[in-house]
Amino acid sequence: MPDPLAPFPPVRGVISTEEHDLRWASTDFGRAVHHRPLAVLRPDSVDDIAAVQRYATTHQLPLVPRAEGHSTSGQAQASGGIVVDMTGLDTVHRIGSDHLVVDAGARWSEVLAATIPHGLTPPVLTDYLELSVGGTLSVGGIGGTSHRHGAQTDNVLALDVLAPDGTRHTCSPTTNPLLFDAVRAGRGRQGVILTATLRLIRAHTHATVHRLRYDNLTDFLADQRTLMNEQRFDYLEGQAQPTETGPWALLIEAATFHSSPDQPDRALHGLRHHDADINTVPYLNFLDRLAESVALLRRIGPWQDPHPWLNLLLPDSDTENIVTTALATTTPELVGDSGLALLYPLPRARFTTPKLRLPQSTTSFLFSLLRAAPPASPATLARMVDHNHRLTTVATAAGGVAYLGDLDT
Ligand SMILES: Cc1cc2nc3c(=O)[nH]c(=O)nc-3n(C[C@H](O)[C@H](O)[C@H](O)COP(=O)(O)OP(=O)(O)OC[C@H]3O[C@@H](n4cnc5c(N)ncnc54)[C@H](O)[C@@H]3O)c2cc1C
Repeated sequence: MPDPLAPFPPVRGVISTEEHDLRWASTDFGRAVHHRPLAVLRPDSVDDIAAVQRYATTHQLPLVPRAEGHSTSGQAQASGGIVVDMTGLDTVHRIGSDHLVVDAGARWSEVLAATIPHGLTPPVLTDYLELSVGGTLSVGGIGGTSHRHGAQTDNVLALDVLAPDGTRHTCSPTTNPLLFDAVRAGRGRQGVILTATLRLIRAHTHATVHRLRYDNLTDFLADQRTLMNEQRFDYLEGQAQPTETGPWALLIEAATFHSSPDQPDRALHGLRHHDADINTVPYLNFLDRLAESVALLRRIGPWQDPHPWLNLLLPDSDTENIVTTALATTTPELVGDSGLALLYPLPRARFTTPKLRLPQSTTSFLFSLLRAAPPASPATLARMVDHNHRLTTVATAAGGVAYLGDLDT
């Protein structure tokens, strides 16, 4: 039996059992799941984490690393255990011509701040840059360049990991490969990632962004397949936005990265969109495109509301049916203010991380329902969660997979 009364080991940082710290550690961006830990460790160094990791193992307590807490269903929480706040360990150690060594608590915006002056960038970035390196490497990390480069976990050269027995190991495809494969997309339960060596590629200075609008899902999906297979663009995503008049507005967002002031001529020939706008912006502005709206949502409140998000990876053959059902049954109440859906294709051949499960099909589609529930309506939140469960059941019966989902999926 765990012995919660055994004194904590001495550390140079802080082990807190203060109410405000326990509350902080028992919530996340989803605000739908709450597990209360016994304590929160704010480490001063890796030695602190190692000492507390050994203590946790001896006393059979779960130890869970947490960084930016942007999980939506308790993935970084530790019921009755110890949550390690990784955000203080965020140093960028070294930049080479094709790689970077960084602490896992650093955010991707900090990684870019270090690499862009060298004309370099990670090949894959999440839509929002204020997520931590350790946090996204623990789930996969998928973005608009994944149709070319796979997940962020497919672009890691090596990791320094603290194993559950408190020992430190370097792992890579050739050194400790089993540990490397267990930790990438391991959701923080196979060891704590301390530092990551990340692959870098040339960063361009501009992005020319094409926004293509569609009347129907069949044409939208057909064009996404074409754009993915022909690799016409560097970046490829898509959205469905709720409208006041009824049907969801469908939009493909595709971008070319380049370093010439002239807009590259990317033909949209053969595509079925009914309307397009094209716009060239600095590369970093494009990557950080969510910053402004997130700042607004923080300021006016909805950023702090519950977010029962659904993220599914669907086999190509069933995507149109499942998404049609999902959008038809997602009433305005079930998407919430500022909610929307993401939908874009991923080729299986680009994804090699063993723990990042994808459907068996050659092409999958990421389908995310990014919902926001009013804080004063637990009934609406419960209906959104129930809708997620129903759609997940339909998707898994068709060979789909939950991405970022509950820990047992
Ligand atoms: C606004 C927003 C936008 C997003 N956009 C995308 C996107 O474009 N693509 C995408 O793929 N995902 C996206 N996500 C999901 C996001 O990638 C995951 O929720 C990610 O895990 C969050 O990182 P975090 O730093 O907040 O981690 P936390 O929520 O703190 O932790 C998440 C998981 O990582 C583990 N973990 C954290 N640090 C470490 C470590 N050092 N070692 C081992 N395990 C660790 C935790 O134990 C937990 O299981 C988005 C989420 C939000 C809220």
